[in-house]
Amino acid sequence: MRYNVEYQLDHIDMPRFRKKYQDRDKFMAFCRECPRYDSLWSCPSLSFDVDKFLEPYVWINLLCAKIHLDDETIRAADTADKIKAMGWDIVSVVKLDTDDRLRKLEAQVPESLSLSSGGCNLCKNCTRKSGSPCRQPDKMRYSLDAFGFDLTAITKDVFHIDILWCKDSLPKYFTLIHGLLADKPVSEELWRTVGLHSAIALTSKTTRR
Ligand code: SF4
Repeated sequence: MRYNVEYQLDHIDMPRFRKKYQDRDKFMAFCRECPRYDSLWSCPSLSFDVDKFLEPYVWINLLCAKIHLDDETIRAADTADKIKAMGWDIVSVVKLDTDDRLRKLEAQVPESLSLSSGGCNLCKNCTRKSGSPCRQPDKMRYSLDAFGFDLTAITKDVFHIDILWCKDSLPKYFTLIHGLLADKPVSEELWRTVGLHSAIALTSKTTRR
């Protein structure tokens, strides 16, 4: 499977971000319908006070990863099972890679914390359903969705991208939104140190199932 990833960056102060894009009642209702609700430690329901958790952070530094699929990859996914499996594989690889780079960025920005895109996929089977603690709490990061942020609106308003979904074929691109909560905007130079910088296609990879 071949694809490349184009990153875009932006930042917004948390009061404005929360006012514009957070609607916990609305999005928690969607989450409760999700088969993975209460199945991953990174996702709802959350056992802590979300307002207190977010309160220390003044800025959110946003990263949009737009994953462009090549025509051959799209053509190769010619059954519903392949569309699901290949789509999952591609998104999972980019998410893990982006999470890893963001944890490296955290190390350079004091008192920062990264947020991921979608549920944690560090382990094959999350321990949450068995009631055991998270296996990798040092690496696990909560998803933006878990706090009730409107990812469709953020993707459209901030990055001017319409989210596409798998239907009868793989889409031309996927989008992932990650964030770094911090007390200041992160400079492009700093993003660059972890290989995440804006407006260019950075990686081209082949993965095999
Ligand atoms: S690190 Fe493992 S146990 Fe923890 S949330 Fe992620 S998948 Fe679950």
